[in-house]
Amino acid sequence: VQVLTTITETRAVLDAARQSGATVGLFPTMGALHDGHATLMRKARVECDVAVVSIFVNPLQFGEDEDLARYPRDLSADAALAESIGIDVIFAPSVEEMYPRPVVTAVALQSLAATMEGASRPGHFTGVATVVAKLFNIAGPCRAYFSEKDFQQLAIVSRMAQDLSFPVEVVRCPFVREPDGLAMSSRNVFLNADERAASTVLFRALETGAAMVLAGEIDPDRVRGAVASVIEQEPIANIDYVEVVDVSTLAQPATLRGELRLLVAARFGATRLLDNLGVVVPEQH
Ligand code: AMP
Repeated sequence: VQVLTTITETRAVLDAARQSGATVGLFPTMGALHDGHATLMRKARVECDVAVVSIFVNPLQFGEDEDLARYPRDLSADAALAESIGIDVIFAPSVEEMYPRPVVTAVALQSLAATMEGASRPGHFTGVATVVAKLFNIAGPCRAYFSEKDFQQLAIVSRMAQDLSFPVEVVRCPFVREPDGLAMSSRNVFLNADERAASTVLFRALETGAAMVLAGEIDPDRVRGAVASVIEQEPIANIDYVEVVDVSTLAQPATLRGELRLLVAARFGATRLLDNLGVVVPEQH
């Protein structure tokens, strides 16, 4: 795998690839790559001629009191994993390369970004959308891989690509769990043994909510209440939010119908975990 750190070199390599007829696949990450990331890398590898993983812990998307400084970083392990999958290029710029001057231009977001992660982390999605816009402009025409693990981010990035006419096809991918149900995340390394054991409550709670919907419950508040009460049985867990939304609007519908997503965020000690699960309301006969 070729590790590039400058925008100029990365553009040159990808432009040359496209000129010779190759398709480009981009997988944007913050590094500390795990088996969940590996599945998206494999998909990009199979579906595109040139597969690029970007690794950049983007300061713009972290709040002042968040974990920017302690976010795990291990470029040599990431490069080894990418190499083993056959990734062609890692783009791993420094903060100075991406933001040589204070940023005065950013992507403004409306409805999709106001709730959930947007409400809990003011400015987060502006930071995400701005760095993704830069990565799209650096990579050029490509397929870009994002997972449902960060469901609201995926919705915002897909919409941004359309609204701003980026020559990028955003590819929506499922995400990977540990065998006990915990969604894989680079932040899971921060969990101590008790927190790690407690963390499986999130998936159990989501499954409880999804089962209620499948059994015919159409009141969103009752589903949210049931999901929350499963999480509350775990004293280590501190709920940030529990939501049930329509997948196209990310808003809570008056009654549950169509394609829905249950989403939760909760703190386990100092570590904030996200999880979500899709459920489609069965047609009434
Ligand atoms: P990050 O972990 O924040 O660097 O995310 C980089 C990309 O990997 C995003 O598209 C995430 O949604 C995706 N991702 C994170 N966790 C997983 C997982 N468990 N399985 C698959 N993809 C994931």
